[in-house]
Amino acid sequence: MKIGILYICTGKYDVFWKGFYESAEQYLLPNTEKHYFVFTDSKTIDETDRIHKIFQVQLGWPKDTLMRFHLFLNKEDELSKMDFLFFFNANYTFVKTINEDEILPTENEHFLVGQIHPVAYHLQRKDFNYETNPNSTAYIPIDKGKHYFAGGLIGGNTFAFLKMCQNLKQNIDKDFENNVIAKWHDESHINAYFVTHEPKKLHPGFCYPQGWYLPFVQKTLLLDKNKFGGHAFLRGENKQSSFQFIHAKLFYLKLIVRAGLYKIFGYSFI
Ligand code: UDP
Repeated sequence: MKIGILYICTGKYDVFWKGFYESAEQYLLPNTEKHYFVFTDSKTIDETDRIHKIFQVQLGWPKDTLMRFHLFLNKEDELSKMDFLFFFNANYTFVKTINEDEILPTENEHFLVGQIHPVAYHLQRKDFNYETNPNSTAYIPIDKGKHYFAGGLIGGNTFAFLKMCQNLKQNIDKDFENNVIAKWHDESHINAYFVTHEPKKLHPGFCYPQGWYLPFVQKTLLLDKNKFGGHAFLRGENKQSSFQFIHAKLFYLKLIVRAGLYKIFGYSFI
């Protein structure tokens, strides 16, 4: 059996790749053949026989996440060679073994996998943050929807997963034509799809944010993006943060040069 792991890291998000890959190799379906399809513009990620790099420019927020279905379908032929496909957000790491019987879906589950959101597992329907704009294809009527799913982990058998991608790609394009972007982007669309295709439901221990306490067995650790400069910085939304990033790099460069000069001459003139 072959599992295709879909991973997007454009712009600065490649900082998460090493931790994701190494922990996935150790804990995620350790006895199954895993292929990583990495959509990225990173120059620091190396290809291997199981790491397939697909060049992807940073599209800007929120398209970097919203356009994921379009990206996957660009590689439909290659992905079709897999038996199952799973997408993980870039900041996922794995901390406990995850076996096939825990995450592979059955026919009763529409051959799909969804992640119960760690902020919503104890909430009632009225508090779910579904799309409420009827002009969006992600709209969920008030009497529909039983769970709130996170967009950071989705999966399924290859046929069901790609069918979902095709459906959501069309819906997102239709929204664009109507000048609408669903409030939680891909996550809103995923929730709408899961209303009619209820998936296998992973408990929030599979989506365990760093620094939280959740009453579930911890399977993953979602690294805190604030420790990596924060959302705006990572997404390239904030020019000041980018400036600070360059400034910090120059500062470290200066320290290294100064240390080198000190070693050679016994003093530094910068
Ligand atoms: N992403 C990316 N580059 C960006 C922004 C987002 O590769 O500049 C991808 C990455 O896979 C990330 C996902 O989109 O995990 C969702 O974005 P983010 O984690 O910022 O959203 P959140 O889950 O925090 O709402």
